[in-house]
Amino acid sequence: MATNTLVLLLNQNYEPLNVCHVRRALVLIDKGKAEMVENGAGIFRTTSRIFHLPTVVRLRYHVRRPLPMRRLTRREAFIRDKYRCQYCGNEVRPLTLDHVVPRVRGGKHEWENVVTACMGCNHRKAGRTPREAGMTLLSKPTRPSTTPYSLFVPYLESRTEWRKFVFAD
Ligand SMILES: [Zn+2]
Repeated sequence: MATNTLVLLLNQNYEPLNVCHVRRALVLIDKGKAEMVENGAGIFRTTSRIFHLPTVVRLRYHVRRPLPMRRLTRREAFIRDKYRCQYCGNEVRPLTLDHVVPRVRGGKHEWENVVTACMGCNHRKAGRTPREAGMTLLSKPTRPSTTPYSLFVPYLESRTEWRKFVFAD
């Protein structure tokens, strides 16, 4: 069995909640905590039973869960900035994180003060503000929003059967 097959986990009200491995989905079903909404990932046989492998399952109870905050990491910042230096616009590796207002000048380590920068631009800007360095940001850095949509969208290219649950209105 392909235990790493991914399953879309829906809340009781059919809102997409998470993505889990098929093994966890089967455990949830087996314990009566979830029900199969769609199968189609094939079957799994034991000596005595045949299981249809789910692609979508729904919890039988409602989970209240706030949307996770995006943690400010290098990777998340690069993703937000689409792996593009926010000063010169190039996608030159290696990329670095630049504090727009340098930390030694009181700039905070927060989404609104951090941008992706190539080594060259980071070095040129050094301990100055963009204005002092005569450099312009491509866009004002903001905290990326987290929506159910943004959580599931990376999967929708390959998991077309999930789309109607993610985009349900
Ligand atoms: Zn650059």
